[in-house]
Amino acid sequence: MVTEQEHGAIVWKNGKLVPWQEATIHVMSHVVNYGSSVFEGIRCYDTKRGSGIFRLDAHIERLLNSAHIYRMEVPFTSDEIMEACRQLVLANEYKACYLRPIIVRGYGTFGVDPFPCPIDTYICTWQWGKYLGPEAIEQGVDVCVSSWTRIAPNTLPSMAKAGANYMNSQLIKMEAKVNGYVEGIALDPQGYISEGSGENIFLVKDGTVMTPPLYSTILPGITRDSVIKICERMSIPVLERAIPREMLYIADEVFFTGTAAEITPIRSVDKVQVGAGRRGPITAEVQRQFFDIIAGEAEDVFGWLTPVEESRAATQREPQLA
Ligand code: PMP
Repeated sequence: MVTEQEHGAIVWKNGKLVPWQEATIHVMSHVVNYGSSVFEGIRCYDTKRGSGIFRLDAHIERLLNSAHIYRMEVPFTSDEIMEACRQLVLANEYKACYLRPIIVRGYGTFGVDPFPCPIDTYICTWQWGKYLGPEAIEQGVDVCVSSWTRIAPNTLPSMAKAGANYMNSQLIKMEAKVNGYVEGIALDPQGYISEGSGENIFLVKDGTVMTPPLYSTILPGITRDSVIKICERMSIPVLERAIPREMLYIADEVFFTGTAAEITPIRSVDKVQVGAGRRGPITAEVQRQFFDIIAGEAEDVFGWLTPVEESRAATQREPQLA
């Protein structure tokens, strides 16, 4: 159970700030029965220059794209949702936290047809440490290739970050955990590497960084995009191409990327050691650049951090409970 200390006291619900306990839905809501939600996972970091939300604009763009794919008409603009995220971090008095904007089909009629059901938009916050364990970032994790295939093209759209996609992710995650692994890597329907249950994946071979393309039915990860940009700035070539499974075993380095997992090295796959069995040099350098930016130690050359505090000055109002 998440304790009251771990989650924010206040939730943003359809434009209003409400107490956590009031952010509930009916069991017969469309989303509960048919999985009709789209959502985001965003981190707010406590940087040297104050709290900053990482790539807020990219996350909200992906959220609204996910909603658009599912014909959900969201009555808020991206600017309004971004401002709501900042207001909520302030209202919950966080320096650092995880933000979960979620748009759901609410309580209306009971059939599959989603159109009669209202669209409800929420943002929740909580404190989330290192997703794959406290040592994972340095030591790396032991993972397996899943027996479950990633969602196929033209079934559930993988470019949408939709709740229903995570039934597939749960199968991958549960299988990995019951077999003693931290995470599972799914292959795409052609048998090429796709992604983890909640992470994109990168491999390094002979100085070249490679990652599966969108047609390997991945979520277009924002951390993935950030790592590609960091590599390009370091003049390290990044190939987006179909990658055979066995490349996992002979790669020099393998790592996961994701908002929750950040950049997590993989030290073994299916009990086969990857490279030297510990974090490799390119992974370490990419991590260093990433963590320096999010800590405010390095200049935010890409403009990735949205300051939270500016919002208070810009709006000149204190957040109010509805
Ligand atoms: N793939 C899946 C299935 C995910 O759930 C996530 C986490 N959102 C990612 C990849 C990584 O995406 P991001 O870097 O935008 O968090």
